[in-house]
Amino acid sequence: MDLKEIKEIDAKRYMTVFNRQNVCFTHGKGSKLYDSYGNEYIDMGAGIAVNCLGHDHPDLTAAVCEQAHKLLHISNLYYNQPQAELCRNLLDDTIFDRMFLCNSGAEANEGAIKLVRKYFYNKGEHRPKIVTAINSFHGRTLATVTATGQDKYSRPFAPLPDGFVHVPFNDFAALKKQADQQTAAILLEVVQGESGVLPADYDYIVNAYALAKSRGILFIIDEVQTGMGRTGKLFGFEHYGIQPDIITLAKGLGGGVPIGAVLARGDVATAFAPGDHGTTFGGNPLACAAANVVVDKLKNGLLEEAAQKGEYLLGKLSKLKKFNFVRDVRGKGLLLGVQLNDKVKNTEIVGKMAASGVIILTAGNNTLRFAPALTIQKDEIDVACDKLMDLFARTNI
Ligand SMILES: *Cc1c(COP(=O)(O)O)cnc(C)c1O
Repeated sequence: MDLKEIKEIDAKRYMTVFNRQNVCFTHGKGSKLYDSYGNEYIDMGAGIAVNCLGHDHPDLTAAVCEQAHKLLHISNLYYNQPQAELCRNLLDDTIFDRMFLCNSGAEANEGAIKLVRKYFYNKGEHRPKIVTAINSFHGRTLATVTATGQDKYSRPFAPLPDGFVHVPFNDFAALKKQADQQTAAILLEVVQGESGVLPADYDYIVNAYALAKSRGILFIIDEVQTGMGRTGKLFGFEHYGIQPDIITLAKGLGGGVPIGAVLARGDVATAFAPGDHGTTFGGNPLACAAANVVVDKLKNGLLEEAAQKGEYLLGKLSKLKKFNFVRDVRGKGLLLGVQLNDKVKNTEIVGKMAASGVIILTAGNNTLRFAPALTIQKDEIDVACDKLMDLFARTNI
């Protein structure tokens, strides 16, 4: 099939939910991608912050192939060694006691929401509210799209589940007003990825956490994008010195194989009884075998590497501030954003960069989003940033 035929089928037969770039990738190696015409690209998006080990990482590919030869799936009716290994490898040396595995970020957040509701149900406490931030992103199921503080994503799907309240991000006074004795949980990202790569202020998270503790509210961090080394630490909340009750993971966890997780500590970790929650596919041997490789790499040097490369990329991107249409350069680790003013469209820059062989992502607020593999090479960062610098220099406004 050539690209034209693929596009025709897609246009006719796939549901009309995506605006796709005009390219079909066929394979990749590390942070290089190749399209159906044999063109090479540097991948600064890694899916959307998913392929943390790059494409066709030898150990990840080997582990997936090896597991495929043994078992892909057996259901959660039986014990599962790769799953037990992941429980041990991921949770040991963290503050978390237990986890539940699913297949995506939305499902992980859905599970976290059910877990906090069950926790207060068990206690007989009436706490119907969950407070989240405006411009957050938590997923596309009915509950998570309602938790998401972006009206455009949920409005067409009413009636929506009850109990979600949104407050402005990085505004502690607003949070304090809403997070009361009726509140079960505060759910936040430490970097709002989807809406523009906006890091939470240090004081905001520290104060929000203290407020939650003082009012008996559970504190949830959505680490679907910021987890698994993306910000230079295993979990993004570690930048803030807090101990959330629950976090959710997905994107980077399986290095490209779909897997999500809910991690919890203390009493809330045992709030579910058998039958309260479940999944057919979640935590299957294939996905766990992949996640075990990711965890192993992070524990053996990749975290430090990601932090260093994040600093390096931030240094390069910061040079773009000399252009008067660049409003801000920000982010943490290898989750970085370049916000443009309204004279230049981020989608146009992304299209032109793709044409010159560099894949970058957009985010809200007219932002360019950079979320490459944690394994990206410095010379790949150099080439991508040089091309961006050239394009910006040629962009007349
Ligand atoms: C991507 C994302 C989600 C949704 O994950 P899916 O796997 O697409 O369901 C949820 N929260 C955050 C912070 C995300 O970045």
